[in-house]
Amino acid sequence: MPELPEVETVRQTLKNFIIGRKVTDVIVRYDGIIKDVTVEEFRTKLANQQLKDIRRLGKYLFFDFENITLTSHLRMEGKYYLKDSLDTLTKHEHIIFVLDNGKFLTYHDVRKFGTMEITDLHKESELKSVKALGMEINDPMLSVDYLYPLLKKSNRAIKSLLLDQHIVCGLGNIYVDETLFSARIYPEKPGSNISIYQVDKIIRKARKVINKAIRLGGTTIRTYQSSLGVDGLFQNHLNVHTLAGEKCKFCNDTILKIRVGGRGTYYCPTCQRNDDTLIIGLTGGIATGKTLVSDWFIKNKVNVLDADKIYKKLLKTNKIMYNEITREFGESVVKDKQIDTSALGKMVFSDKELRLKLNHITHPFVIRELERQIDNLKNKGKKLIILDIPLLYEFKLDSYSDISMLVDLDYDIQIKRLMKRDHIDYDLANKKINSQLSMDTKKKFADIIIDNNHSKAETEKQLVKIYQTLRSDGFVN
Ligand SMILES: [Zn+2]
Repeated sequence: MPELPEVETVRQTLKNFIIGRKVTDVIVRYDGIIKDVTVEEFRTKLANQQLKDIRRLGKYLFFDFENITLTSHLRMEGKYYLKDSLDTLTKHEHIIFVLDNGKFLTYHDVRKFGTMEITDLHKESELKSVKALGMEINDPMLSVDYLYPLLKKSNRAIKSLLLDQHIVCGLGNIYVDETLFSARIYPEKPGSNISIYQVDKIIRKARKVINKAIRLGGTTIRTYQSSLGVDGLFQNHLNVHTLAGEKCKFCNDTILKIRVGGRGTYYCPTCQRNDDTLIIGLTGGIATGKTLVSDWFIKNKVNVLDADKIYKKLLKTNKIMYNEITREFGESVVKDKQIDTSALGKMVFSDKELRLKLNHITHPFVIRELERQIDNLKNKGKKLIILDIPLLYEFKLDSYSDISMLVDLDYDIQIKRLMKRDHIDYDLANKKINSQLSMDTKKKFADIIIDNNHSKAETEKQLVKIYQTLRSDGFVN
């Protein structure tokens, strides 16, 4: 079935070939496609009209002639062909527009579900079907304020809601699967259980998916190949759709297929968790003020799991981890029969290979403990968990969270704070900061950015707002 990117590809391709052409006649071989007017009226209205423009809304195409607009909905299988002669006409080409350059624009539709309607110029919104459409996902005017209430008030599955063209138009089966994967949302999650931050993420990810698909000319799969021999390439960039049984590119889990609202639906069970908990990953740069934020949430009784604390505790208590570290790094990192974290830290800091070795040993222990504590909180019915993780993006640990929150600080202030905090010189502070991803890169991954460049009170004001939003979202009691 053609979706927005395929219809957009049809629009762009047709525009290149037929703008400025006049329709000299219309041959109607199956009149079920034409709505509301007789075949005779249809022919008369189009005759001798010059095509000025082709526009699109969702999966509708609008052909603007001199004083009428022809609205074409391709539905399941509709496509257009441009032909030099009618010798190769098939039985599925139902409407033929004869053009003044001797060529033919034919409308091909195996299942005959497509429709064509005529209105006065630019008056397509008077058509019932067009009037009922929701805003298009790519419309810059579409905002969280528009979409969130429509999703939140419903108990239907998020996938069905996004497919509902009355809510948002332009998202079909393929692109909803891909969007929900990118936004890390389980397709059957009820709309009422979605956070406003997730709706914001849906909009951002959907636009990214759709725009990429448009750039690649859409998706050519089993049932649909766009007109004029233009094949889309987006099928080579799918992450989940049609990929049941294959490994997820991000977490290596196996992609599953289920049915949601009767539609074949593909998702990754790890990246798209099926539960009611909202998990927020919290991160920052070195000395950007992450602790201030995490302390504030702890003070306000939000469950915060601190990966750094877990790591330090494991260093003290986990025998297997202790043995592996001493085997690799020697007795010089041991003090009073315990791992000396500052000695270990110094040893690995300036040596990337050693750092990787240490991570390789400790990472699985930290992850296991984190998972155990997350499950524990979930079993207690906690609806909101914050994971405080310094290297959230570097270690791809954001795969454990639904959304991520970044504490941002300008570099100049950051380096001064770090020099003061750790009593180190500029060069070392600079080196430490640059051992992580840059703040600009982190910002690209973040769903919520906390600006910590001003007073503590200013930062806390932002936290209060986030907290209140999460409360009205139903994730804080
Ligand atoms: Zn995955």
